Amino acid sequence: MAMEALTYDRAAAYKDEFPPQEYETWQPRKVMAVLLDIDPMTDKDSSIAIGQEEKYGVSAPKMTSLGTEKVLGLKTLKKHYDALGNYLHVQSLKSVRCGKTVDFIKFRKRCEEIAKFVSNVLSSPVYNCTIGVFSNLKCVECGNPIRKRIPSGESEVTAKCFECGATYTVVDEGEGKSQWAPHQHEIECASTNCSHKIVVWHHELEVGRRWECPSCKGENTFVLAINFKEAPNQSLNSTPENGAN
Ligand SMILES: [Zn+2]
Ligand SMILES: [Zn+2]
Repeated sequence: MAMEALTYDRAAAYKDEFPPQEYETWQPRKVMAVLLDIDPMTDKDSSIAIGQEEKYGVSAPKMTSLGTEKVLGLKTLKKHYDALGNYLHVQSLKSVRCGKTVDFIKFRKRCEEIAKFVSNVLSSPVYNCTIGVFSNLKCVECGNPIRKRIPSGESEVTAKCFECGATYTVVDEGEGKSQWAPHQHEIECASTNCSHKIVVWHHELEVGRRWECPSCKGENTFVLAINFKEAPNQSLNSTPENGAN
């Protein structure tokens, strides 16, 4: 429970960025995987120090440390969390029949190791620290504010509106500026007598989805199709291959 609580606490620090469809996720390992997707540094220990720059843009010569945060990371979760699950249940008939017994000495040792780690996390002078560079946009489709973290070392990320599903490519242009390109496509009416175009979001491109053309009032439907064309120079003396015809 301590490992779960620490992981959920961590997730709460990312609540603006956590996809609502993942709210049902409860296994700490899976929650941590979602967090790592948001911020690759989320399960790393970090230290914070402050100092006054003497020259703008040049690190201060004297820094004062505010402390280090110890984080319950994916490695520890992988090592201990699932292993503990084995002790939650009474031994199955099969393992009793096979003569397996619970090694309580080993179990206690594992619990002590976890307790020590959890104490270190909880006694960190810095707790649940997330620092990042963010870019914001009001969704052009629904107006919902979107906040996207730009992980260090990355200049291009994909952002999604949690309200309407619209997606964007966010390009970091440096100096606090970023460009948001909506994933939209211009689609022309499929009628040969009409060339009216509508704008469709990438997430709306689904087989079976239909719309009425605002110009000719005809109905368009997205379908999956294979187009076949015969080879241009078919050899006359080719012999048919063995097998299916
Ligand atoms: Zn939206
Ligand atoms: Zn049309």
